[in-house]
Amino acid sequence: MSAIIMDGRAVAKAWKEKLAEQVAQKKRMGVTPHLAVVLVGENPASQVYVRNKENACHKAGIRSTVIRLDETCAQEELENVVRALNADDSVHGILVQLPLPGHLDEARVLALINPDKDVDGFHAMNSGRLMNGQPRFVPCTPLGVMKLLEAYDIPVEGKHAVVIGRSNIVGKPMAMLLLAQNATVTICHSRTQNLDEITRQADILVAAVGKPGFVKPSMVKPGAVVIDVGINRVDGKIVGDVAPEAAEVAGFLTPVPGGVGQMTIAMLLANTLEAAQ
Ligand code: NDP
Repeated sequence: MSAIIMDGRAVAKAWKEKLAEQVAQKKRMGVTPHLAVVLVGENPASQVYVRNKENACHKAGIRSTVIRLDETCAQEELENVVRALNADDSVHGILVQLPLPGHLDEARVLALINPDKDVDGFHAMNSGRLMNGQPRFVPCTPLGVMKLLEAYDIPVEGKHAVVIGRSNIVGKPMAMLLLAQNATVTICHSRTQNLDEITRQADILVAAVGKPGFVKPSMVKPGAVVIDVGINRVDGKIVGDVAPEAAEVAGFLTPVPGGVGQMTIAMLLANTLEAAQ
């Protein structure tokens, strides 16, 4: 058996086209959705992500502004930038590109973003709302996964979903979204025992670990839906958290690149438009 490869690029393209129409409509009403991205330092991966976000905004007709701060910038300087963006009525969405250099307090910066402009959905107010079943801004990557499942008509209700990873950015919100769709959810992490036994029970397996090829074919239930969130650089190539051979066992599999990453950007555009509504 060979898995159906879930084409995140195609699904994201359809989303972006639909969003571009909605942005054009918004502009006709006199409002141009505007995303401000704060980038601190020279992290090469962050630079690529920010450039991709800028390009995607541009193509969708969304205005984007990138504020670049020096690697050595002080906490106060960064916080003042966020305060100024909070106060700027022309800015609808604010995104602080992570990770920040080690000397900066990430949690404090994220807590400062106006929750109504928090298009990444990382503010405690927005994660709390997701937890309470009243979501507003949902983190883009797990939201993108849900939209990808929807696009492939993959039922979630009653299924056993196993999420490997418990970060605030991916693992936890992913689990909450699957739970909200009535999956039975298991969250695994680095201290989980007998991980293979658990993953082999998954109808839907989400890997958000950050380790290349971590999910081996032997960890996958035949016919399972396997979602690879991982983005790892190996010898200059981008690879996921799932070994490619898992395609021989899985029923559906997202490729890396061309899977979840594409959906993440589309959902950022969706959240920015939502913030402008
Ligand atoms: P984190 O490093 O924050 O979290 C990784 C998680 O994996 C942790 O919960 C950790 O457990 C768990 N883990 C690590 N080792 C093991 C192990 N041996 N067994 C089981 N669990 C383990 O990463 P992120 O959640 O931020 O990102 C995960 C991956 O997704 C990365 O590759 C990242 O680049 C990618 N990513 C992709 C995006 C996209 O658009 N496609 C967007 C965001 C991230 P513990 O908590 O116990 O340490």
